[in-house]
Amino acid sequence: MSVLSNQKSAACHRKFIFRWCSLVFLCLAGLGSLGQSVSAADEWKLIPYRGLKYVSAANVKNFYRFTAIEEKGKKLIFKSPNLVMEWEINSQAIFINKVKFVLSFPVIKPTHRSIVSVVDLAKLIDPVLRPSYIQHTSKFDTVVIDAGHGAHDSGAVGLLGYEKNYCLDTALRLEKALKKRGFKTHMTRRTDRFLTLSQRVQVANSIKNSIFISVHYNSSDNRLANGIETYALAPQGTVSTNGGRASGFRKGNNRDGENIALATAVHAMAMHRMGVEDRGVKRARFNVLTGINKPAVLFEGGFVTHSGDAQRINGVEYREKLANTIADAIVGFRKAVGGKKR
Ligand SMILES: [Zn+2]
Repeated sequence: MSVLSNQKSAACHRKFIFRWCSLVFLCLAGLGSLGQSVSAADEWKLIPYRGLKYVSAANVKNFYRFTAIEEKGKKLIFKSPNLVMEWEINSQAIFINKVKFVLSFPVIKPTHRSIVSVVDLAKLIDPVLRPSYIQHTSKFDTVVIDAGHGAHDSGAVGLLGYEKNYCLDTALRLEKALKKRGFKTHMTRRTDRFLTLSQRVQVANSIKNSIFISVHYNSSDNRLANGIETYALAPQGTVSTNGGRASGFRKGNNRDGENIALATAVHAMAMHRMGVEDRGVKRARFNVLTGINKPAVLFEGGFVTHSGDAQRINGVEYREKLANTIADAIVGFRKAVGGKKR
């Protein structure tokens, strides 16, 4: 686990935390201002429980230099001057500076200590708090933009239009927004045509020095469901946020750290700018994410089945704003993660 071994200087830590803070508005500077290199006293103490490994809340507090943990009923609030992280016992939802993330396993308190799984620590909390520590990152200058669905596959049938059309329009706007910011782009489709999921993956994998973003809009039988959610590939051995079974390693898991960092950058920026319900950064094994060999996320920009969301999504202004928001987030991700060309 990289969390256990990856130690850098405090200056380096501060610099990267600042970058992340300034670009995705997560404001993690508090960690930097407290930062000293991680000392031997901060080693992780692993706690086995029912076949999984965990670490305690106190261990997390010390490692990341939070100044205090406040306990309010079932809630644990980790505090430092510019960073607040909230956990809730028996819940998979955590909040980092008010942005929602869904863990693979709930935080639990089987005895006197609150504990979080090592998988969630290594695959979510650490890469979100310290994106510069993600190992083997690679530089990119190109974004593969995937407009979901197409042709006979309309995607969700919304109150005011088809998902496939909203996806394509947003993707084309994102293409322009990214070009303006100096990126190269590649579209999996730029007309109303159908591609299988594996064709989308093949296209993405053939484009060098790139990341991948699949643009979708959501739907639900529950007409009250609304808001934005962003998906990264579920880590090995975990269950998807949307249920199913725990599963093994997939090609896309080679990029777990970058995947969650990209999802965080996009989601946090969307929450900051769009003023809609936060459904969280989630994990799933969507086919467009499992076979991909580059950092990849699937973005759900709102519910076409919710009256408020549908009206917004149907307006050009919202889709244009969303495209610029995603483009700015990708600029932030590139600066925060860095990486080497390979
Ligand atoms: Zn879709």
